[in-house]
Amino acid sequence: MKNMRTIIAVAVAASAALFTFSMARQQPAAAPAKHKFACVKTDAEWKKILPPKTYQVLRHADTEEAYSGNLWDNHEAGTYFCAGCGQEVFTSKTKFDSHTGWPSFWQPVSKGAVINEADHSFGMERTEVICSRCGGHLGHVFDDGPKPTGLRYCMNSAALKFKKAK
Ligand SMILES: [Zn+2]
Repeated sequence: MKNMRTIIAVAVAASAALFTFSMARQQPAAAPAKHKFACVKTDAEWKKILPPKTYQVLRHADTEEAYSGNLWDNHEAGTYFCAGCGQEVFTSKTKFDSHTGWPSFWQPVSKGAVINEADHSFGMERTEVICSRCGGHLGHVFDDGPKPTGLRYCMNSAALKFKKAK
């Protein structure tokens, strides 16, 4: 009888531990989304409407090759929009030549236009910059930029759409 009780106790403890373990493992997928985006589409929908490179950058955090985009050397006055949802994210007023081959800015157009996220991918500690309206990956921000902010928003041309000022 005593043995039976021990077996049951062990079985209960083991299943509780297993349950806790499986819950913990499921946490990332089961957790509610961190941000509520105004513009939400499925991956298949994004793939259908975006050019391949833009889709890879915005939706899968790909980085275009340096000097490969069409905006790193753009010096025209105007506005930069998210290529996914069309939200205004940067302007030519804060663009500077970073000599990196990627369009670089020292500040977004407004505080709420982009969201900064910790990014631990590729064994690096970086800060990812995403569009606050659709969550699209725009690039990263580094602290080696010029005055007045000292920040360098290193963006992908493929994630942006430029509209010349009238
Ligand atoms: Zn967007």
